[in-house]
Parts: sequence; structure tokens; C-alpha cells
Amino acid sequence: MEGLWRLLSRIKDYKRSFILSIFSNSMLSIFTVVSIPLLIPFFSILFDRIPALPVRPAGSEINEWVKYYMSDLIVSQGKEMALFWVCVLLVIVFFFKNLFRYSALYFMAPLRFGIIYDLRKKLFNKYLDLPLSFYSNERKGALISTLTLDVQEVEWSILNVIESVFKSPIIMAGSIFFMIYINAGLTLFVFILVLFAGLIIGKVVNTLKKESNNVQEMVANLTSHVEETIGGLRVIKGFNAENYQITKFEKENASFRNLLTKVVNRRDSASPISEFMGVSVVTILLWYGSHLVFKEELAPETFFAFVFAFYQVIEPAKSFSSAYFNIQKGMAALDRINRVLETDNEIISKPGAIHKKSLTTSIDFNNVGFKYKDNNVYALQDVSVEIKKGQVVALVGSSGAGKSTFVDLLPRFYDVSEGTITIDGVDIRDIDITDLREMFGIVTQDAILFLDTIANNSSFGGNFSEEQIMEAARVANAHDFIELLPKGYHTNIGDRGLKLSGGQRQRLTIARAVLRDPPILILDEATSALDSESERLVQDALHKVMRSRTSVVVAHRLSTIQQADNILVLENGQIVQSGLHENLINEIGPYKKFVEMQSFS
Ligand code: ADP
Repeated sequence: MEGLWRLLSRIKDYKRSFILSIFSNSMLSIFTVVSIPLLIPFFSILFDRIPALPVRPAGSEINEWVKYYMSDLIVSQGKEMALFWVCVLLVIVFFFKNLFRYSALYFMAPLRFGIIYDLRKKLFNKYLDLPLSFYSNERKGALISTLTLDVQEVEWSILNVIESVFKSPIIMAGSIFFMIYINAGLTLFVFILVLFAGLIIGKVVNTLKKESNNVQEMVANLTSHVEETIGGLRVIKGFNAENYQITKFEKENASFRNLLTKVVNRRDSASPISEFMGVSVVTILLWYGSHLVFKEELAPETFFAFVFAFYQVIEPAKSFSSAYFNIQKGMAALDRINRVLETDNEIISKPGAIHKKSLTTSIDFNNVGFKYKDNNVYALQDVSVEIKKGQVVALVGSSGAGKSTFVDLLPRFYDVSEGTITIDGVDIRDIDITDLREMFGIVTQDAILFLDTIANNSSFGGNFSEEQIMEAARVANAHDFIELLPKGYHTNIGDRGLKLSGGQRQRLTIARAVLRDPPILILDEATSALDSESERLVQDALHKVMRSRTSVVVAHRLSTIQQADNILVLENGQIVQSGLHENLINEIGPYKKFVEMQSFS
């Protein structure tokens, strides 16, 4: 509920639209209500029930006054002309009614879509803000469908309701007032009937809302599946696993179909049931009303207007009942949105954080321990090491030893659970996080590139000249192949850079990292084998960029390791050996084994 109020409080940012929309809605209501008694003279003339001579009525009954003006009009203009003017008036009233109906929607549109725009923007910003740890427990598909479907759902359920809530009351109140004014007894009679019908319809609607929650869940599953499949096409095709994926998708798709069929069948039953109930009520009203007309307790034209007024109440009443259902559905979507928006990012700059962009002496791990959330085993334990400025430190160890965790702690992708990491003696948690991350250039194992041009992938939001981009590419041994591309630096490299070879992608990511000229490099060497020429170019590029910097390398190649100033051998999250290649190779221990097997990870 709190989330709903927060959503509604956004309306204040769209005050102008909101007020104009309310104004239009009020005008719409007034014209709707006014159009009802206007029908009386129309029917009066049609049924020839106007007295020949105008007699000023003594009381204030609308009916009598209308009759008085009508006979006045008939006397002066003739019956045909009088009917004509009544029709003209009717058309005018309905013209304005619909004009305001349109303007109410017209002014509501910027509010609805503005609120939705804000929600989407906030969600996207949040997705970027949240720490990596958040994503270990989330499914991509669910996060995508929250940003697309859930936001859509909020738009058309909750905001639709707001719209009808502000539109209907005046029309309903006006119509009901008019009905009571005409015949209080008949009005009471009708409302008892409506209440009875409403109870039955309500039962049907109630069973609906539970199932619609599952619909979102299924959409998320499907989205996840498609996203994974497209991302993993290379593997799927390579392993001839198309049928396996198809079968998995079939299963999800089929249960989605079954659920939707069930939900829609249930939902579709609501409309016929309510129509049938509605007609029954109207029939009873017609029967009872005609009865009153026969007994001359009610004028036929008044009865017509009454039925019309009743119709004006039924429509909004129906929308109120579906509003309840829609709010339930929208609330479920809003909850999913708010759950993300309310997740706090604990990895942020402290107030008064230190601004620091350079490394002068060393990076130190002091008794660092780290556990992943929901995991009781230490991924790193009691790690103490000094990385001096200018050193190349290589991390070696079998898979799962903690190498990635070690490097992820440096730019604070995760915060240490125990101990501290300091740069020049300053705890990295005290450094402004933007500054901290600026100190690192990161080259990941799988080259992560985006659907954009080479130049944009390289500068990646930074403000660099063409010269600088080319210089970085030269250092990364990428300039030559880029020059040969059809549009050079302005070539679009396709989704995830798929139009480039593996080696080219890696060199481009190296260029991206060195373009910013960061003091510290974090390199995760690719494990996948490249052809020897590419391999040589990549290795050569890496060695060039490491030369003048401090580097932490998750190493998989002997040539890289041999160059290192310090090798850290990790096992189960602990440093079990450290030192230079020449020394370690002579020690009995895991390092010797790694070298013998030529496998460092
Ligand atoms: P390496 O890079 O040496 O292969 P990692 O640093 O990736 O090893 O992993 C170290 C340990 O932490 C492993 O036991 C792994 O299962 C665990 N781990 C890694 N990432 C996560 C995560 N996101 N959530 C929970 N546990 C993780």
C-alpha cells in the first residue's frame, strides 16, 4: 500500500495535466448529467404529451418546467421546429460532453506516461547502481520483465483506475440525484437489485486475481529462457542441443498457454455474467417501471430519462468493480518494481570520502576474508599481501580457488567481510568510489563489448579525441585490424562484438582499458585458445600495457607468469605459495605441479 501512495504522490509533478484533466472530467460529468433531463422534452414531443397552451407551473418540478418551455416553443415555432431545436440542443450537449471526454484523456496522457517514464528511468538507474552481489540471486528475465511488463501493468491498471475514480463519482452522484429526484422509491428498488447482482459478479472477479500473479512469473521464465538461448547460441548449436532447448522451452510455453487459457476463461466469464445480470436488472426495472406508468404514477418520458440515468450509473459502477481487480493486479506489479527500487546498495561512497586518483606506494591486503552472500564457505580467507607500485602480480590457482574474487574486491565490486584493503594506506572504503574505480583498468576474461562502433566501444562514455583512441588501439595492437575494417573506427561491431574475431575483441578491450591510462590494471587472461598469431598479438599488447603500470593478473599463460614480480598461488581462498617463478619452480608444492602440467587454472 505504501508503494501505491508513493506512486500517487508523483502526480504532483504533473500538476497542470492533473488539474486540467480533473476539470475536463468534471465538465464531462456535468454535460453527461445535463444530457439526461434533455431527453424528456424529446420524448414528450414524440409521444404528443405536451399541453397545447403553456401554463406556468407553480412548483419546481423539472418535468413541469420543461413541459412549460416546450409548449411555449411549440406555440411560437410549431411542432416540427420545436423538435428540431431540441435535437440541435441535444447534439450540442453531446458534442461538448465528448469534447471534454477527449480533453480529459488528452491531459491525462502526459501524467500517465510521465509517471511510467519516471518509473522506468528509476529502475534502469537502479539496475546500474546495484552491486554485483544483487545479481547473483536474480534472474535476468525477471529483471527485464519488471522493467517492461510490470511497468506497463502499473500504467494500465493503477493509472486507469485513477482516471475512472476521478471521472465517475460526479456522473454517478448526478445521475443518482436525478433518479431520486424523479422517483425515490423506484431508485431504492433498482439499487437493491444492483447490489444483489454486484455480489454475484464480485465472486467471479475475486477468484481471478490469484492466478494473474502466476502469469508474470511465467513471462519471466520465458524471457529468461529466450535471453539465455540467444546468448548461448554458439554453445547450443555446437552441442547439437537445439532440441534440448526446444523441449525445455516447449514445456514452459505449454504451461504458460494452459495458465493463460485458464485465466482468460475465468476472466471472459465475468463479462457475460455481468451482462446477463445487468439485463435482468434492467428488465425488472422496465417491467416495474412500466407498471408504474400504467398506473399513471410515472410519466412515460420521465421513465425513459430514469432508465437513461440508470444506465449512466451502471457503467461507472462496472468500472469500479473492475477497478478493484485491476488494483490488485497492478499492486503485484508495483510490489515487484518497488522491491528492486528499495534494495539498498551498500557499496557507495561514504560521506566525506577521500578523493584519490593515483597510486604512490602500494596496495595492501591485510588479513582479508570474504564470503559471498548465502554462502558459508570463505571464498578468500586471511589473505595478506603487498602489491608495490609498478609490480606485476600474477594469481595462479585451480578453478574456484578465489582468483576472480581477489580481483573483484579491488574496485569494490564486493566489500571485504574481514580485514582491509588499502591503497597507499587508505582503506578503499574511505575513497570516493568513482575515483577508486577510475584507478583501475579492467580487462575481463570474456571480452565484453557493446552493440556500437569501435570508437564508441573504446571511449565508452569517456571524452577522448580520435587521436587518443587511435593511440590506445596502437598500444593494444588493434589499430592495424581496425584500419582494415570497412568504416575503420566507425564500424559497428554487432551485438556483443560478434563481427570481430576472438583475438580482435580482446585487443579492443585492452585498448578500452588503456585509453583511460589507469595506474592499476586488472587483467583476467582469456582461457580460450587463440590461433598463435592472435595469441602473440594479444600477449604482446598485454606486456606493453603492463610495462608502466601496476598490474594484477589472473594468469593462465606461462609467459605472463614468468614476467611477474610476484606470483600468488591460491588454494581454497588462501595464499599457499608466493614469490618469483625461479624460486617457486624449485619448491615442492602446487606451483611446480601447475608448471609441469602447463595448466594454471
Ligand atoms: P576462481 O576465479 O579462482 O575460479 P572464484 O573467485 O570465482 O574462483 O570463486 C571462489 C569461490 O567462491 C568458489 O568456491 C565459488 O564457488 C564461490 N563463488 C564465486 N562467485 C560466487 C557468487 N556470486 N556467489 C556465491 N559464491 C560464489
